[in-house]
Amino acid sequence: MTSRHPVVIIGAGPAGIAAARTLADAGLRPVLIDEGRFPGGQIFRKPQPELTRAPSTLYGFDAGRAKSFRADVADLLPAIDYRSETTVWSAEPGSLHLVNHGRTFSQPWSRLIIATGGMDRIVPMKGWTAPGIYSLGGAQIALKAEASLIGRRVVFSGTGPLLYLVAYQYAKAGACVPAVLETARPFDDLRLLPGLAGDVPLLARGLYYIAWLRAHGTRVLSGVVPLEARHGKDGRVSGLAFRHGDRDQILACDGLAIGHGLKAETQVADLLGAEFSFNAAQRQWLPRADRDGRSSLSNVYLAGDGLSVRGSLVAAASGRLAAAALLQDAGLNAPRSSDRDRRFVAGSARFRDALDRAFPLPSEIAQALPEETVVCRCEGLTAGDIRRTVARSGEADINRIKAFCRLGMGRCQGRICGPAAAELIASAARIDISAVGRLRGQAPVKPVPLKDLAEAAR
Ligand SMILES: Cc1cc2nc3c(=O)[nH]c(=O)nc-3n(C[C@H](O)[C@H](O)[C@H](O)COP(=O)(O)OP(=O)(O)OC[C@H]3O[C@@H](n4cnc5c(N)ncnc54)[C@H](O)[C@@H]3O)c2cc1C
Repeated sequence: MTSRHPVVIIGAGPAGIAAARTLADAGLRPVLIDEGRFPGGQIFRKPQPELTRAPSTLYGFDAGRAKSFRADVADLLPAIDYRSETTVWSAEPGSLHLVNHGRTFSQPWSRLIIATGGMDRIVPMKGWTAPGIYSLGGAQIALKAEASLIGRRVVFSGTGPLLYLVAYQYAKAGACVPAVLETARPFDDLRLLPGLAGDVPLLARGLYYIAWLRAHGTRVLSGVVPLEARHGKDGRVSGLAFRHGDRDQILACDGLAIGHGLKAETQVADLLGAEFSFNAAQRQWLPRADRDGRSSLSNVYLAGDGLSVRGSLVAAASGRLAAAALLQDAGLNAPRSSDRDRRFVAGSARFRDALDRAFPLPSEIAQALPEETVVCRCEGLTAGDIRRTVARSGEADINRIKAFCRLGMGRCQGRICGPAAAELIASAARIDISAVGRLRGQAPVKPVPLKDLAEAAR
């Protein structure tokens, strides 16, 4: 490596840590940046130090992996330049813009591995912005990091494996979980079974969570249409109205967790100008990469859920592959494990595809949202506002709609409302979802106090 600038990795989850380990083993000292307080990413999120929940309670079946991950991280940290609680809020070729505890600064890079993971995908419903309603990931973070529950009686509504996992974790932690309401009908399509059987241990875990929940009194229903999150006089969530079959029902609760699968966090790759393509199974735009994670940009590599949501084991393998590709491109010795990792990643594709199809984004629910349902909560835009903007402007590109009505222009920059808004635009304009395009990434990719930016500009 001839550049005076370091190799930088964004993200200290399974993908970023595996990449850092591979680079450190090759004699490099990468800079590893993560906004979290501790390494671990989503799956191995660590509790605050004063909390003492046992790993088996925190991570369940993944407790053994969490333990070896921690041991590996402890061994790795002296060999790398790790920057915790540091957020990348903007990026340009050769430089990242960071903020850490109110201090803003730049980090030059010679080569960059983006391992920024994924986040919840949400289909809104009427009343979903009331206090007491969390994304599934948010509910899990409250439990893992803070040892807190979002309520005593918590309903889980949405789709995907995380729905059952978090419901199970809540019930094990002492919450009353009256129901898990799944929008999909997972086993309607028998053609998915061979694909799902491609990862028997994971499939078995999912079935175990469902059986355990049922055995402990939780109703587990599929094919549900959530109608409205009800709230009490204090404004907090008090129940969920939903349709199951042809019957409308209301379940009382004081906490509601919603989530419809995960989406890749792709803003940094987007700011740098990487090429994207539409993934029909995941119903989202993903940055393009070759089989080892080389993006369309030279010296920029992608790994983990930030490239495509495929779970923590594939994330780690793709982290190693991206680092090996980087070493090879830099003319350094790459590890020999790449063939094994490539086989593992390729072998998991059928299972992930079946999972994506078994738990699809409920696009028909998003497209049929009632007029008054808030979709973009930062800007207070309803489904009706978005449909009217499409009708009046005659436009169907999501960035044009944004220009007309400020969709996705608030704090979240469309990270939360983007998927549902795209579905609404597609149905209002009667076009395929892929023709709506994607909200272009804009800095700051995560909320940054203006005072921090102003101080940097002085
Ligand atoms: C909310 C949530 C909860 C999950 N819980 C589980 C679970 O319990 N069990 C399970 O098997 N799978 C879980 N998953 C899926 C699992 O996290 C992933 O498959 C796996 O962890 C992906 O690893 P990764 O390294 O690609 O990303 P992650 O583990 O998500 O790590 C990405 C890291 O990048 C950092 N980052 C992102 N953007 C920035 C930025 N701009 N600046 C600085 N740092 C940044 C994040 O802080 C994070 O630490 C969860 C996913 C989500 C989104």
